[in-house]
Amino acid sequence: QREELKKLVQLPSMTPDGIQVELIANIGNPKDGLAAVENGAEGIGLYRTEFLYMGREALPSEEEQFEAYKSVTEMFGREHPVVIRSLDIGGDKELPYLDMPKEMNPFLGYRAIRLCLDRTDIFRTQLRAILRASAYGNIKLMYPMIATLEELRKANKVLETVKQELLAEAIPFNKGMEVGIMVEIPAVAVMADRFAREVDFFSIGTNDLIQYTMAADRMNETVSYLYQPFNLAVLRLIRSVIESAHKEGKRVAMCGEMAGDLTALPILLGLGLDEFSMSASSVLLARALVRQLTMKKARSIAEAVLEMDNPLEIENFVKQEMQC
Ligand code: PEP
Ligand code: MG
Repeated sequence: QREELKKLVQLPSMTPDGIQVELIANIGNPKDGLAAVENGAEGIGLYRTEFLYMGREALPSEEEQFEAYKSVTEMFGREHPVVIRSLDIGGDKELPYLDMPKEMNPFLGYRAIRLCLDRTDIFRTQLRAILRASAYGNIKLMYPMIATLEELRKANKVLETVKQELLAEAIPFNKGMEVGIMVEIPAVAVMADRFAREVDFFSIGTNDLIQYTMAADRMNETVSYLYQPFNLAVLRLIRSVIESAHKEGKRVAMCGEMAGDLTALPILLGLGLDEFSMSASSVLLARALVRQLTMKKARSIAEAVLEMDNPLEIENFVKQEMQC
């Protein structure tokens, strides 16, 4: 089976009725980038930069970050996108040297963009490194854990001042670098029509979107039965995000684990998801599936499950449909 899959590395991710989807990879460091290339990923949909900051004594320098971002970008050339996510620390990931507050609910606390908008020194250094690397390929910037339009606008203001600084120093960067947000807080999914006017793209982070929608900690085994990717509430949010984005002519990716789930894929494709970002090891399996699933069938599957209300029933229905 591995041999069969390997043959797909060079083939397009296209449905039999000619719909092109993008299968891209999630990575945590430049080494993962190579695995993504080998597995035929058409770009990087999520570069989790926090690993650059972890397992060390102090913040990584601008230069160090620049080298890391540039090296991944160069692996993918000019046409394939590399989506770099700004620092998403906090929640389950701590940085000992930052002296972060002990919190009752870290997943609802001082995390990601919240920390970056507070510690703009850290944020600016990272933005400088990302912008500088953007001169070498097709880098896109993505903010994690955005909850309000205010935060998005504040982050963009910081980005703008960093751009001005680079311009003044005559340091090259891509002036048209796309900027998007992760949709992982239900408030943003509900407000997606408004956000869609102010971003270049969305990327749905289902790992967090599911835990916040269901109020079920993604790390807590005791309540894991409530962590339901196939809950109709989650599917409705996803559908509405895609519809809102498409109305504004914006693309929607997904970079949570759900994007690489072969049972979820037919539903997501049918709902119109444009890009699927997953671990490198899932890319070829997803491509094999996409190449035998017509968009027509995916749409009918999506339409049918939106009438159901039981997650297990939904999952079983898709599995059954995909067998024949
Ligand atoms: C997500 O929340 O779906 C996501 C991709 O981000 P992370 O898993 O890094 O929180
Ligand atoms: Mg997340």
